[in-house]
Amino acid sequence: MHRNIDIEALCADKGLRITEQRRTIARILSEAEDHPDVETLHERAAAIDPKISIATVYRTVRLFEEAGILERHEFGDGRSRYEAASDAHHDHLIDVETGKVIEFVDEELEALQRRIAEKLGFRLVDHRMELYGVAVDRGR
Ligand SMILES: [Zn+2]
Ligand SMILES: [Zn+2]
Repeated sequence: MHRNIDIEALCADKGLRITEQRRTIARILSEAEDHPDVETLHERAAAIDPKISIATVYRTVRLFEEAGILERHEFGDGRSRYEAASDAHHDHLIDVETGKVIEFVDEELEALQRRIAEKLGFRLVDHRMELYGVAVDRGR
């Protein structure tokens, strides 16, 4: 659900100076259909530009995150993983055996969360929902 996000354009909107290395990292993030961590991003970036260091990748994702261009997730394994921030909200289910991350939207769940917040006297402005599961039919 983070497809078709133009991180370079977002950088321009936020007034971030875009260097060649940042552009490469932005493109990889724009094209990522998974939720890569910094090591994975560095591998992909280094395949395009071997001069990109892991420190540069760290600094760049932090910069993008602070600018609200990226969202950081942890998904239970302590590693920070990134995806382009999107207007299209979605939640995540994590396969605890393989680490695979599945994106979903469930309107009933969204409405339930709004109702819970209302009951507690709040208007919901954001939430994170992470489900952790094992595949029921794996290996069959
Ligand atoms: Zn949600
Ligand atoms: Zn996602």
